[in-house]
Amino acid sequence: MIAPDLRSGVELLGEMIAGSSSIVPFTGAGISTECGIPDFRSPGGLWTRNRPIAFDEFVASRDARDESWRRRFAMEPTFAAAKPGRGHRALASLYRAGKVPAIITQNIDNLHQASGFASDHVIELHGNTTYARCIGCGQAYDLSWVKQRFDEHGAAPDCTLCDEPVKTATISFGQAMPEDAMQRATELAQHCDLFLAIGSSLVVWPAAGFPMMAKNCGARLVIINREPTDQDDLADLVIRYDIGETLGPFVGN
Ligand SMILES: [Zn+2]
Repeated sequence: MIAPDLRSGVELLGEMIAGSSSIVPFTGAGISTECGIPDFRSPGGLWTRNRPIAFDEFVASRDARDESWRRRFAMEPTFAAAKPGRGHRALASLYRAGKVPAIITQNIDNLHQASGFASDHVIELHGNTTYARCIGCGQAYDLSWVKQRFDEHGAAPDCTLCDEPVKTATISFGQAMPEDAMQRATELAQHCDLFLAIGSSLVVWPAAGFPMMAKNCGARLVIINREPTDQDDLADLVIRYDIGETLGPFVGN
């Protein structure tokens, strides 16, 4: 059913949370917009103005790598200033209460970790933009390390261990999905009793397959998103209100 108003949506959600023992949240850009992080895919968003740089382009071209890093550094004030919002804090409360074993996210902003989730319990389907990795050997680097070398040489640095390019630890267009994360997300979706899809338009596959998978395995499904999604018909409850307003009452519970 579609919640007729915010109050009944919160009430029904509260009952479903109370009646569940293993809740798996799945989050998208909508949970982070109140933290000042823009939805890159939205109309007028960054990706409609600046075509994303695909993975093979990044690998093939030094210019593409430099441009990619210039864009990332331009976003740094936004990412560095972002703090967990009410949605993040509410989910962290459920995690601390032992109701949420782990969280699946399409976001790359590290805000679930910042809200109190152990890194190991945040399944990042699209990686993390707050640090970098060598695309060859996987060595992790701080962004400040990359920035310092970029400023000194005017070009993005390569890995000191294997000379392959260093990229933000995100999954770019055209890059393989992280196998381990996909596997863990599959297991979580198959073994929860309540699946909460929050702030995702559910259009990016294969990530968008998890709500349906959870539902098919017997979980109840709640979709919280301002806009309708293609999977609303599958959901036990659809809440089309602001995420902060909807989840705010669950902070600290
Ligand atoms: Zn390397």
